Amino acid sequence: MAALEIVLVPALSDNYVYLLHDADTGTTAVVDPGEVAPVEAALSERGWTLTHILNTHHHADHIDGNEVLKEKYGVPLIGPKAEANRIPDMDVMLSEGDTYDLNGHTAQVFETPGHTTGHICLYFADDKALFAGDTLFALGCGRMFEGTPSQFWTSLSKLKGLPADTRIYCGHEYTMSNLKFALSIDGDNAKLQARARIIEGLRAENLPTVPSLMGEELETNPFLRCDDPSIAAAVGKSGADPVEVFAAVRSGKDNF
Ligand code: ZN
Ligand code: FE
Repeated sequence: MAALEIVLVPALSDNYVYLLHDADTGTTAVVDPGEVAPVEAALSERGWTLTHILNTHHHADHIDGNEVLKEKYGVPLIGPKAEANRIPDMDVMLSEGDTYDLNGHTAQVFETPGHTTGHICLYFADDKALFAGDTLFALGCGRMFEGTPSQFWTSLSKLKGLPADTRIYCGHEYTMSNLKFALSIDGDNAKLQARARIIEGLRAENLPTVPSLMGEELETNPFLRCDDPSIAAAVGKSGADPVEVFAAVRSGKDNF
């Protein structure tokens, strides 16, 4: 068993699909294939054959490639049990606390409702990698389509406990928009300012800002810092419960 090689595959307008490859076993999983063609191109470029499909949540931009890939490669589809009625043909259904053995690479399952009610994140501790779907983005979090602020804050709080050197592989390149909003409420944060220069440099060359590290998210992502008095104050919620602060930060971004 080798370390997982993780390949970022841009898809649709701003999605990131991921390939997870183990050179010793030939295992090659795809996470959230919202589109088939870029996945097929990334596979054939490397001479890899798909062995698993993993889904974080039911949105079309994360699952639309499932059917064609499953049919072509005859591989299992693994996803959130709580979205079984919205993701067709799942073979393995995962819930909070489950583990999934990807041919020797163990994924720990976190249920992270908020963006959707059944969203899961997959954490590969040995490979220091979190597949966060649309729950946690670089400097942001997903829109709260189906959950409540309390659910979403609880979900993010689970992820906050992961090691600082965990790489966050999220579902979209939304970092520049998230950065502008973060600066608007947390502009005095020197670590955010430093990160801004790096992000602006990457995006100027059309390079991905993903993966980020949990450590930098904890210092600069306002959505993870709703229990920090400086973020509470920035949204006019000094002394309020973090759930209330989260609701204010989320709606602030929605209306930014
Ligand atoms: Zn989504
Ligand atoms: Fe999405």
